[in-house]
Amino acid sequence: MSFHGAAVRLAIVVTCKGCQKAIPTGERSIPDNPIAVRCPICNEHRQYRPTELYEGRLSFGLIQGGKR
Ligand SMILES: [Zn+2]
Repeated sequence: MSFHGAAVRLAIVVTCKGCQKAIPTGERSIPDNPIAVRCPICNEHRQYRPTELYEGRLSFGLIQGGKR
């Protein structure tokens, strides 16, 4: 992976209903239909409506990705 400089990394995120953290949805843009997202922090698996998704920063600790 390569990123230019220290650009802020935005992603389509949603506020987890379990732990209230901003978690990544894996989407590139706001989808038209509800999507299921599993929280990598608290493992809450929920459906989220498009209106609940937004473009924002990931919560600290999720930026690296792949950590458990
Ligand atoms: Zn959570």
